[in-house]
Amino acid sequence: MNDLIFLEPVFHGKLWGGRRMEEEYGYELPDGPVGECWAISAHPNGDCKVQGGSWDGRYLSQLWDEHRELFGNLEGDRFPLLIKILDAQDDLSIQVHPDDAYANEHENGSLGKRECWYILDAREGGDIVVGQRAANRDEFAQMVEDGRWDDLLNRVPIKKDDFFQIDPGTVHAILGGTLVLETQQSSDVTYRVYDFDRRQADGSLRELHLKQATDVIDYATKAPENGTVTAPEVDGVTQLVSTPNYAVERVRVTSDAPVTMRQEWPFLNVSVVEGSGSVLANGTKADLPKGTHFIAPANSGDLVFEGNMMLIVSHV
Ligand code: ZN
Repeated sequence: MNDLIFLEPVFHGKLWGGRRMEEEYGYELPDGPVGECWAISAHPNGDCKVQGGSWDGRYLSQLWDEHRELFGNLEGDRFPLLIKILDAQDDLSIQVHPDDAYANEHENGSLGKRECWYILDAREGGDIVVGQRAANRDEFAQMVEDGRWDDLLNRVPIKKDDFFQIDPGTVHAILGGTLVLETQQSSDVTYRVYDFDRRQADGSLRELHLKQATDVIDYATKAPENGTVTAPEVDGVTQLVSTPNYAVERVRVTSDAPVTMRQEWPFLNVSVVEGSGSVLANGTKADLPKGTHFIAPANSGDLVFEGNMMLIVSHV
């Protein structure tokens, strides 16, 4: 039987970030505005360290390389997923990610990036950008040249507990006042389309990647109108999405209704995004304060969640 693997997040300072994760999750943040918490990650730009248990102090990438049995002997040269919390005080740039084939060819064998967002909090009247309205590459390029951003970009109003699937090729941006849990492929390849003409500290504009962006944008898919979750909740569990790269579920645990999940996947990522409680696995009970992230490895057996909390879980 394998221990649960609790991870220490890696924080990334971002100009658009803030200090909100300090009070929301009790994290010890580095100085300055912090935009991203890489909560479950083996990516070289933010490899999480194990906290406690048999693997204390090891990096997740090491466990992946040296103890593949923890991940059901899944094939692949890297841990495939990355779980983040983003605190956007200001707007992120408008961007798009490539798929695996394009990234492999143009970005040194990197993975493409499919991602999805669970909205943990949003300000009154808040919105985000998901999708665009040009019919093809030429029209897109023309609208960019003319600066017709309002016509081009599909803005969607958001509220807490909305969910958005962002496939590769989808133009998107998280805008200010939004706290998001992101489940994504373990990739850091981003093509910036527009940065609101904002100047950096040295007065320069951030680099854009319009050639690559127009290569990879999916012009055919219709943009969504909202992110309301319509899937049914069954015994506390709501399936949010299932894609070739990941499936994501929301789990609600209340004092009247503990939830038992059978860990039947190569591994299961678990994030406590609201409330707190505990998990019982292999006869050992662990506290789960808000902001905890762990991996239930292969052969964890049944996970029994108690308390009052909301979890976002994912698996391949
Ligand atoms: Zn993105």
